[in-house]
Amino acid sequence: MSSANIDSRDRSAVLTALEQSVFDVAVIGGGITGAGIARDAALRGLSVVLVEARDYASGTSSRSSKMIHGGLRYLAQGDVALVKEAASERQILRRIAPHLAQICPFLIPTTSLAMVTKLRAGLWTFEKLGNVPDDERHEVIGVKDLAAREPLMRTDKLNGAVIYPEFLTDDARLVLANIRAAQAAGAVVLNYAAAAGLTPDGLLVRSTSPGENLGAEVRAKLVVNAAGAWVDRVRALETGESDTRLSLSRGIHLVLDRAGLPVNATVLLRAADKRTIFAVPRGRFTYLGTTDVFHDTADYWPAPERSDVDYLLRATEAALDIAPLTDNDIVSLWSGVRPLIAQPGKKANEVSRKDEIWTSPSGMISIAGGKLSAYRAMAERVVDLVVERLGVTAKPCATADIPLPLDEAADDVASEARRAVIHEGAVTLEDYWVRRSGRAWFDDAAGLAVLAPATDVMGDLLGWDAAERTAQIAHCQTLEKDSRRVLADGSGETG
Ligand SMILES: Cc1cc2nc3c(=O)[nH]c(=O)nc-3n(C[C@H](O)[C@H](O)[C@H](O)COP(=O)(O)OP(=O)(O)OC[C@H]3O[C@@H](n4cnc5c(N)ncnc54)[C@H](O)[C@@H]3O)c2cc1C
Repeated sequence: MSSANIDSRDRSAVLTALEQSVFDVAVIGGGITGAGIARDAALRGLSVVLVEARDYASGTSSRSSKMIHGGLRYLAQGDVALVKEAASERQILRRIAPHLAQICPFLIPTTSLAMVTKLRAGLWTFEKLGNVPDDERHEVIGVKDLAAREPLMRTDKLNGAVIYPEFLTDDARLVLANIRAAQAAGAVVLNYAAAAGLTPDGLLVRSTSPGENLGAEVRAKLVVNAAGAWVDRVRALETGESDTRLSLSRGIHLVLDRAGLPVNATVLLRAADKRTIFAVPRGRFTYLGTTDVFHDTADYWPAPERSDVDYLLRATEAALDIAPLTDNDIVSLWSGVRPLIAQPGKKANEVSRKDEIWTSPSGMISIAGGKLSAYRAMAERVVDLVVERLGVTAKPCATADIPLPLDEAADDVASEARRAVIHEGAVTLEDYWVRRSGRAWFDDAAGLAVLAPATDVMGDLLGWDAAERTAQIAHCQTLEKDSRRVLADGSGETG
């Protein structure tokens, strides 16, 4: 078995390896969808290559709300099969990666007995379908208990709350764990490597790492397009496949100091338009999310709008007994686009989150839609189809049983940065700051203070000269500044 450690100093050897075999399957896209497929296919004994145009999880899979949903909300839509799948996937993730599935109480404030009754009935069914253990069943509390548990809650219009456990994850690290597991099972994986064209024998890959003017012709029997919001663009690489199947919806999150917004559970709040938003405790921070509005283009850094920020701040102030929130309270913010299957005529928040699989005339399989939470089941369906199409005998799917690789503990910036390069395939400072350490969002002043010490370590390992070190830091500072452009003074200065 190969190692789960991805050393980004081996990039040129990996690029060379891309041309040396005929792979059973080439996966385009290193978000959670592609990562899950590559791991599953490799564990079944197929030869696999995965190419990611930028960094692993640099698209939607690092911009989620970081929740592993059991699927309670699908009950309201009467979709029992989806609830069953979501609930069992939640238990599987907990079994194979307890470090990436932390249990966290979710609290739904209630306004009437009728609401409590309806929620209880839903949760009871949900617990039965999902085989939820007895000690993790829901709890109904009265208004006094609610005030004790969540002192910030404005309780004047409430009669209590229903509490049930859900899981929180680290989305980017969940992707990395799957990518590393795919490599350990024999897959060849490469970030900063874009599929630039399709050929009758596979695909053309071009390195997108600055200064690395390399390409490769990859031969593969089957190509899987798991490019998320960019699925249509990859489909368009094939002649005749120029229609649009996706519609994108933007969601933002705001990170605040928990000292100013001390919630104990993930609290679900009603926004003015009756949508549910939430305040999630995470260490020293609380994050608020999310919005759901159509967004025209597949952007890696979709710009939040003023209305997105106001929507979350005003809904939070209305539900919690806190001083008015201002832009100065915002430590950091992130924004991403959901790759949804287009359903013309529907509002963004009404569009189904189900995944779909299409096969093009030349045989490329495209997959889009879905959720992070059920990625493993989605990957299993895709790989079942791949095996059928290849007409081979493969091992049975093993992704529900084999544990995902553990994160090694790193408690200081230097060890984190070192680990990012030699074990986790980080090529740029952004890869470390945003996705490997999460400090861009969950550290004081958006973690800007770690950029210089992390550059020292990464620069030594990767041979960056002084100009490159300066450029790497400047790039991260620009990202941070741009993300704050929407805020009050528009100066981009961290408050
Ligand atoms: C605001 C928000 C909140 C969400 N919250 C949750 C949640 O709490 N729980 C949940 O379960 N789900 C949630 N989701 C949904 C979930 O995040 C997505 O369904 C999932 O991350 C999509 O993963 P993906 O791999 O399909 O796409 P992506 O993560 O975008 O991956 C696609 C990858 O393809 C790469 N790519 C593009 N073109 C090429 C090319 N030519 N060659 C090579 N690579 C290419 C891109 O760089 C990208 O990395 C949320 C989504 C959003 C936007």
